[in-house]
Amino acid sequence: MGYPHPSHPKEHPLLSTYFGDAGARSYDGWVKRGGYQALRQALGMSRDQVIEELKTSGLRGRGGAGFPTGLKWSFMPKEVTKPHYLLCNADESEPGTFKDREIMRWTPHQLIEGCAIAAHAIGAERIYIYIRGEFTAEHKIVTAAAEEAYQAGALGGNVFGSGRRIDLVIHRGAGAYICGEETAMMNSVEGKRGNPRIKPPFPAQAGLWACPTTINNVETLAAVPHIIRQGGNWYKALSRSNPKSTGTKLFSVCGHVQRPGNYEVVMGTPMRDLVYDMCGGMRPGRTLKAVIPGGSSVPIMTAEEIEDCPMDYEGIAAKGSMLGSGGMIVMDDSTDMVYQVMRLARFYAHESCAQCTQCREGTAWTTRILERILAGQGRSEDLDLLLDLADNMTGKTICVLSDSCAAPVVSAIRKFRGEFEAYLSRTKSPAMVTV
Ligand code: SF4
Repeated sequence: MGYPHPSHPKEHPLLSTYFGDAGARSYDGWVKRGGYQALRQALGMSRDQVIEELKTSGLRGRGGAGFPTGLKWSFMPKEVTKPHYLLCNADESEPGTFKDREIMRWTPHQLIEGCAIAAHAIGAERIYIYIRGEFTAEHKIVTAAAEEAYQAGALGGNVFGSGRRIDLVIHRGAGAYICGEETAMMNSVEGKRGNPRIKPPFPAQAGLWACPTTINNVETLAAVPHIIRQGGNWYKALSRSNPKSTGTKLFSVCGHVQRPGNYEVVMGTPMRDLVYDMCGGMRPGRTLKAVIPGGSSVPIMTAEEIEDCPMDYEGIAAKGSMLGSGGMIVMDDSTDMVYQVMRLARFYAHESCAQCTQCREGTAWTTRILERILAGQGRSEDLDLLLDLADNMTGKTICVLSDSCAAPVVSAIRKFRGEFEAYLSRTKSPAMVTV
């Protein structure tokens, strides 16, 4: 399929080496590029040896939480008294994030190989790839690749003659953002409404059908074959900042930069280099105002805060935000921050599963208050009310969707308060006609 190639791998491409190379999409093409060597190698290793290699690498979950992958795998019970499952989260729905789609689009076997190695490490005989419903083309590509992998013996009852059974089921989502939350995803796979579950129990104890389950993101799993082939220590050395953030990371950059797209960089690369050098900076005549660095669910950073910020888990956390999914939304000085956070709040209100009062009511009221501020009907107490609402929405619900709505709103009020006050004092014309 002839897709445009919006990715700009710059330094140290690993996951993105073959983005734009249609020849890498087939099984034969992937094998010619060194594919499936890592799976063969992993099948000759014990479960513990594979897990140790992952622990050595320092790989952390690329879906948003950043939990150490090897440690997560080690939580799976060693004795297999019940079926074990691997669930791959390919439900990439976080606003501003489009990197997993690119991995599946160009290198489906990179993902399938990573899944098969992970399945071996956690003692799973079945993998589920839960793919976002809107990813029609990627669903076709991954399905075709899985069929090829079965035919070649990379999946099935006797993977590469090892005696090991690894099956793969591709499950399409139906468009709900909340199904990207791991416990909602498990409910959805089971055929239930995609509502998040209360934890504990954690998936490694009671996941899919109450059996031990590991859930990993597409980018995380795609990194696994590289770690097995080149070693955990090699991967760990790919870091420009600190030993807790290792390897490379795909950042999806969108918004007001001149060259939006996916960029794979070594952890710790200065955010300034990405925005101003690789992405070409702002549009002519504009200056940078703010960045939401990890999808839409994290606190907003100002232009000053990104100046000396390394792009890794700790560096972004030190600035009061989070690396999250690596979806960077860049905004220039033409951006109305009140309008932007209203759009985000409206999104979360629409996507709330409505189980928790704080989330169901909080996201809806946050949206309504922001809408009335934008319509020139705000009240003097509205900013305190929004902050109070956000406090009640944070850390008190079944999943973090509620927190995700509160984070950008609170940071916008703290860092761009003057813009809210301009609407409240009627010195700025309404941006919306009606509430
Ligand atoms: Fe549902 Fe929101 Fe509660 Fe999450 S926080 S379980 S989305 S109501």
